[in-house]
Amino acid sequence: MLMKLRKAIIFLVFPLLITSLSGCLKWAARAVNKLPEETALHKTYNYDGKVVIVGAGASGLAAAKVLEQNNIDYLILEATNRYGGRLKKDTTLADFPIDIGAEWIHSAPIVLNVLKGKKGKQIEEELIPYKLENTANWDGEKYKVNPQWKNKAAYSFMPESKFKNSTWYDFFHKNIAQAVKHKIKYNSPVTEINHSDSKVIIKIENGEIYEADKVLVTASVGVLKSNLIKFIPAMNFEKKKAIEELSFHQGFKVVMKFSEKFYPDAINCKVKNGEKVFYDIAFGKNAQANVLGFLCTGKETLNYYALNTEQKIINALIEELDKMFDGQASATYTGDFILENWGKHKYTQGTWTQAFQEKKSHLKTLNQPINNKIYFAGEIYDPYRQMGVPGAILSGYYSIDRLLNDEK
Ligand SMILES: Cc1cc2nc3c(=O)[nH]c(=O)nc-3n(C[C@H](O)[C@H](O)[C@H](O)COP(=O)(O)OP(=O)(O)OC[C@H]3O[C@@H](n4cnc5c(N)ncnc54)[C@H](O)[C@@H]3O)c2cc1C
Repeated sequence: MLMKLRKAIIFLVFPLLITSLSGCLKWAARAVNKLPEETALHKTYNYDGKVVIVGAGASGLAAAKVLEQNNIDYLILEATNRYGGRLKKDTTLADFPIDIGAEWIHSAPIVLNVLKGKKGKQIEEELIPYKLENTANWDGEKYKVNPQWKNKAAYSFMPESKFKNSTWYDFFHKNIAQAVKHKIKYNSPVTEINHSDSKVIIKIENGEIYEADKVLVTASVGVLKSNLIKFIPAMNFEKKKAIEELSFHQGFKVVMKFSEKFYPDAINCKVKNGEKVFYDIAFGKNAQANVLGFLCTGKETLNYYALNTEQKIINALIEELDKMFDGQASATYTGDFILENWGKHKYTQGTWTQAFQEKKSHLKTLNQPINNKIYFAGEIYDPYRQMGVPGAILSGYYSIDRLLNDEK
């Protein structure tokens, strides 16, 4: 009887599980067949109105590149004093450039060509396949090394890569930002978008007013949740509800330098809610420096925020590493660190969204323009299932195509 039950489970439940798993696994690197053959970069547009883009991150500047190519009148209003948004790099801490924001290419490498508008399968960038051989788990008390098969399985499940000698920021700067950065007006947080008349009126924090025919909003979901931008008339109930119900977690990234490498490629830490991982940032890079990264998102972040100062957070991390590695962290820590607190940046308010975890109906609602005048772009609006930076850039191309094609 027991044998029959087991067989039934294997033959009925297992295939069902595989089918549903493969459904939700068609994201990022696995969604190669979802990539568009051509994007707005390959098309020509005749649009004689004015477009204002809110935000100079990956999605905003991707959209701007299309406007620039077609000699369309546009302006980018950026809240901070830099472009890139959640893309940022540091060249001061180590002997290689470090991604302080987005770091991994979760998508198949071919996506880089699509983002650049380049045809063909051969990519120019040198990448590091993120095939880890040395990983462990930590539950706060016990440190357990993972067997090789688990490392291999992790890579087959999520075949990611990283840039070998550069960063996401470099890729973005070279292929997108460079062409449009002259159109960015920095230190210009948009506080109000009024689309009740034929022209859209955009107000920034210092009271200055801009006029446009159409606006592309690329502020993060965290910024939209915080109501930092007032829409007049207000967004409808469905849109507000979708924004409220999306997950956009608090989080931060730390980079710490050591005189010796005492740690493995990655240590996954057990947490109740969110993600907590120590990882070798120099993995596969041309580097001599020993740099350990730490990424924390979700409710776990609050335990660190409760410590109040950056130095106290670093002390807590060193203490935890000492527990795992018998005092080797404090013995080899050089005192150099970077802590980028994305959850506390006013114009980011968190880390990332993962569309595959969200309700399809919410995604559809979010993607709807308002009144053929206000459009949205960012990683959550990507229809091609690429996640993160590729998702954000592709959504920029997708939304600007819609904006230019919809009637005025
Ligand atoms: C720590 C961290 C690690 C990550 N790791 C990865 C990874 O490994 N791989 C990956 O693919 N992705 C990763 N991501 C996600 C990735 O960075 C984002 O998906 C992508 O950069 C989002 O681009 P965006 O244009 O949609 O938004 P943003 O980068 O948030 O850009 C929005 C821009 O709008 C500006 N803005 C906001 N409000 C206003 C306003 N009111 N007025 C004017 N301007 C405004 C902001 O300042 C910003 O410049 C990571 C993100 C973080 C924070």
